Amino acid sequence: MGRAWIELDTDALRHNVEVLRDSLPAGCALMPAVKANAYGHGAVLVARELNRMGIGAFCVATVAEGAQLRRGGITGEILVLGYTHPRQFSLLHRFRLTQAVLENTYAKELDRCGAPVEVQVKIDTGMHRLGERWDDLDKLSEIFACKNLHVTGAFTHLCASSSSARSDRAFTLAQAEAFYRALDALRGRGCVCPKAHLLSSYAVVNYPELGGDYARVGIALYGMLSSKEDTKNCPLELRPVLSLKARVAQVQRLCRGEGAGYDLQFTAQRDTRLAVLAIGYADGLPRSLSCGVGSALLNGRRAPVVGRVCMDQTLVDVTDVPEVAPGDAAVLIGVCGEQEISACEVAEQAGTISNEILSRLGARLERIVV
Ligand SMILES: *Cc1c(COP(=O)(O)O)cnc(C)c1O
Repeated sequence: MGRAWIELDTDALRHNVEVLRDSLPAGCALMPAVKANAYGHGAVLVARELNRMGIGAFCVATVAEGAQLRRGGITGEILVLGYTHPRQFSLLHRFRLTQAVLENTYAKELDRCGAPVEVQVKIDTGMHRLGERWDDLDKLSEIFACKNLHVTGAFTHLCASSSSARSDRAFTLAQAEAFYRALDALRGRGCVCPKAHLLSSYAVVNYPELGGDYARVGIALYGMLSSKEDTKNCPLELRPVLSLKARVAQVQRLCRGEGAGYDLQFTAQRDTRLAVLAIGYADGLPRSLSCGVGSALLNGRRAPVVGRVCMDQTLVDVTDVPEVAPGDAAVLIGVCGEQEISACEVAEQAGTISNEILSRLGARLERIVV
């Protein structure tokens, strides 16, 4: 807890696991998304806690993320959701990772590398991002014919499940129907997928009845949805897992009229005290919080960001916050006394979603379990 750090509340994580498990139909288990360093939380730390809670399946975006989990002692199936270059195919075998098969030509390339590898078939039901089209059964069944590929499952991604607009509901239900129809047709051709899954966080909240063997939950597991509004309206009682804190490096006393920071974007309108926080945009604090948009919590009070957020430091106005001294901890995301800054609030200030704020929290931050 030197300069700037993340605190993980494992009670909150456990609580979210229980709430999400309770909301799923029988037979549907959690397959947490721990990609992007577990949305900034720290992939090995989080997956280790989840392993302890009995979770035995994870998904990541890259083969390197999967390898990192294995090196950290994580057990269970690890599904690599995204593209792996042929040069890295050997890592799949070495670290016992399951590769998503994006399309049938990709399956054949993976098959040619000669070592047995577990795969799950990605079926495109309308998002048109990754996957083989759901109605191209010839191409889909060719994947199952590959000698070195052992198919452990199939999955699709619902791309409109956060919306309750009538057209989006119809689209989501059509995606699910296409997915299950493709699986039935494949079964008819002798192509068996032991596991099938399609739910992510918003789908768990809005369409739990669509079922499947796994729910690939990311943002909800970390205790929120993507926006303040959605989190407020969410029927599940989720608790944020992460807090972001930084030390006060120095307290500056400015006379009225003096400026501060790059391009002197701040001018003191009165005699002012500024706390210099040891965190900046290189740590993932968005630069768009500059000049009064964002704030930090100190001694239970809000202190507005003044001037430009720098790469490694951020200035906040603590004129109205008593007794701030170097070494104090400021809260950038989390609770301090009566006050709270949520990741969703920061996302709103930065014009993005909580997923982006969390997943960009930087490698320089220490991560500790509290
Ligand atoms: C990231 C990801 C998820 C998890 O999404 P959340 O909305 O954070 O729950 C699920 N499935 C796929 C394919 C993903 O890429």
